[in-house]
Amino acid sequence: MERKAMCPGSFDPVTNGHVDIISRTAAIFDEVVATVFANPNKDHLLPLDERMELVEGAVAHIPNVVVERGDGLLVECARRRGINVIIKGLRAVSDFEYEFQMAQTNRALGNAVETLFMMARPEHAYLSSSLVKELATHGADIGEMVPPAVQRALEERRKTTGEPSASGIQLSGGDEG
Ligand code: ADP
Repeated sequence: MERKAMCPGSFDPVTNGHVDIISRTAAIFDEVVATVFANPNKDHLLPLDERMELVEGAVAHIPNVVVERGDGLLVECARRRGINVIIKGLRAVSDFEYEFQMAQTNRALGNAVETLFMMARPEHAYLSSSLVKELATHGADIGEMVPPAVQRALEERRKTTGEPSASGIQLSGGDEG
């Protein structure tokens, strides 16, 4: 039987941390579905299509990974796809609390889907999509943090729209005072 796993996320945008989790999952499972969700609780910077395209480009070198659009409940989505293992990346204790709640909730929904956690590599443990967006807004070099196409896409967006980050992270000096 084919062993399949799902790596879900918003991927707004995909970072080297995400790619690392996906590729390490692909080394263990026969097929990995990277599922890009429109998270209604999040104010996304990039539209779903662009996020999917960037994930596709970032994992194109891994033959057993496919990228799909997520729809509705994660566990339902996995079940429809015949997947019963969900892999989530863990960076810190702060991730754990949220992920623990999600995993328990998904179990409570009564689905035979297991959530497994994969530790972030130390060199990626600080990386988040929010951080990348905030840095890109200020024109900082994010070349070590994201695939080249993501860097180009965010740079393009900054030049054309000057669009501010949706991250809420404050890395820059404020206006007050
Ligand atoms: P969500 O919006 O569902 O939190 P994200 O796209 O932010 O989705 O993250 C998707 C998954 O990737 C989550 O399991 C998250 O913990 C994990 N992840 C995010 N950044 C990293 C990283 N730098 N290293 C390892 N895992 C990560």
